[in-house]
Amino acid sequence: RYFWSVKVPLLAHNGKPYALLGMSTDITERKQLEDELLRLATVDELTTLYNRRQFLKLAEQNLNRSRRYREPFTLLMCDIDFFKHINDTFGHATGDLALQKIAAVIKSSLRDSDIAGRIGGEEFAIILVQTPLSGGHEVAERLRAAIEATEIILENGHTVPLTISIGAAEPVYPHETLLTLLQRADQSLYQAKRSGRNK
Ligand code: GH3
Ligand code: MG
Ligand code: MG
Repeated sequence: RYFWSVKVPLLAHNGKPYALLGMSTDITERKQLEDELLRLATVDELTTLYNRRQFLKLAEQNLNRSRRYREPFTLLMCDIDFFKHINDTFGHATGDLALQKIAAVIKSSLRDSDIAGRIGGEEFAIILVQTPLSGGHEVAERLRAAIEATEIILENGHTVPLTISIGAAEPVYPHETLLTLLQRADQSLYQAKRSGRNK
């Protein structure tokens, strides 16, 4: 349990403490409520990845640190291929299941220090810390292959095809901002889409 404690020394005439008066209040419920509010404000309910706002906040912090210490990192932008088709053919619930499956693959493919968020309906963004673009490419390719190999088999026996396209970018100093970095990763994602998807 959590307690909020206030303690006051009681002083004698000579100024020396002779006793300590303490009061403790049980704030366990308030603390739990606070933790829950923080979780709701930062995490996407469906996938339990960071939500858009929290991802962008952490990305900005990461960029600042990386600029100061000249550490590389790679930003990945991921978008599910033909997701509208998945929703239309198999239903919205299956679409949501696909989002959860992909989030699980993303989590299991990354290091604990990496940052992953759901930044749009069916768009994910990832920061691979201390990873230059060359290494980022390898992780992206592994992720792409793992999602292609993920099977969703419905009760009626139908298999849902699942692939994503990924764009990557690394910061170039001194002029990089989060906005320009996101834009370059987006352009790279757009290229992957235009040249056939699942890339
Ligand atoms: P593309 O390969 O070009 O990405 O094709 P796409 O159909 O995936 O196109 P787009 O990326 O524009 O897809 C957005 C669609 O994703 C619109 C909507 O039907 C679906 N969608 C967005 N958010 C959610 C969600 O939270 N749940 C479900 N089930 N579907 C969503
Ligand atoms: Mg999209
Ligand atoms: Mg899409």
